[in-house]
Amino acid sequence: MAAPLSVTPAVKGVLARLQDAGHQAYIVGGAVRDLLLDRVPKDYDIATSATPEEVRHVFGRAARLIGRRFRLAHVYCGRTCYEVSTFRREPSPEERKTRATDDGVMIWQDNQFGTLEQDARRRDFTVNAIYYNPLREPHFRDDCGGIPDLRAGLVRAIGDPGLRLAEDPVRVLRALKLVAEYGFRLDSSLATPVREQAPALSRSSPARLYEELLKIARKPYCAETFAACRQYGLLQHFLPAMDRLWDGSAGELLRRLLAERDRRLGGGEYSHSRALALATAAFAPAWLAMGAPPGGLWEHNEGIEKTLRESVRKSYSPLPVPRVLTARARDILLLLPRFRQPAAKRRLLRHPEYRYARELY
Ligand code: ATP
Ligand code: MG
Repeated sequence: MAAPLSVTPAVKGVLARLQDAGHQAYIVGGAVRDLLLDRVPKDYDIATSATPEEVRHVFGRAARLIGRRFRLAHVYCGRTCYEVSTFRREPSPEERKTRATDDGVMIWQDNQFGTLEQDARRRDFTVNAIYYNPLREPHFRDDCGGIPDLRAGLVRAIGDPGLRLAEDPVRVLRALKLVAEYGFRLDSSLATPVREQAPALSRSSPARLYEELLKIARKPYCAETFAACRQYGLLQHFLPAMDRLWDGSAGELLRRLLAERDRRLGGGEYSHSRALALATAAFAPAWLAMGAPPGGLWEHNEGIEKTLRESVRKSYSPLPVPRVLTARARDILLLLPRFRQPAAKRRLLRHPEYRYARELY
């Protein structure tokens, strides 16, 4: 297969510096999927044989080591940050026994340095285990058969699907993200375990689920992703409040709003912000909380601030959305009625959330 050409010079620069220092270095994960499918990658994950200290040595102050248990390096090129992680292997059954698994620690990351081959085996799906080196032949390392699966549009687990999902139920959500973002199908061996393991998502660390939510929010496939979660019985364990309103009129409003946001975000007509994304998906429940039609959100209402704050918080419970984001999302919602009040226009224009509120309005 010919090498795709659209990798940015900055990414090539990061890879070149690692390789020139004698280390293996590849792009892996979502960026490789996107490049192979002619999409523009949002960000790049880099996998290397260099240990975090060696990465630090190569990049000096441009590298920051983060994480206590799973150490990886953030390498900065200008304002862009690349996540550079060292090849790992899965812990042996003995090593696994000595570790706590229910303390919210990322099980998939809780492991030792290893080789590229071992690193590929511990990843979740074959399409996520394609290693791409734009600088040298062979350009691709694809031990798990991800390229043919990508071409066939198949999400296939690496190893035993039931075991791999049980060992980390966040993978259920990750599988459905692939279905929604690329229109892939679950491999026949994966569909049943996905449904079976969906309830286990409730036991996953809320912090990790929040991280996945932020990644979903950044992409223009929110409506499809939540719909896939609903279809496979996962939404009630991920965002229970959204699941409860899904079938009613507020659910219909939510789906339409998300679809429109996705369309605009995909077309570059919309500037993404976390607060705006959170406000958008909280609009329908807020509207419901405000008494829905006839006036709903649009009419002046005494308790509006408190009601909106509560409804944003409840929309994402039990995920640990930081208070400042909940407050910003509430402010965005709070500004909406002012678009219909000519007298409020001046104050509206000066508000720091004005541009996001306008997008939502
Ligand atoms: P996105 O486009 O959302 O960033 P991604 O596949 O790059 O998708 P990341 O969360 O950035 O997802 O993770 C990068 C890579 O790390 C994945 O492609 C996969 O190989 C591996 N990975 C991430 N989370 C897990 C997990 N829970 N279990 C196994 N492998 C994982
Ligand atoms: Mg990624």
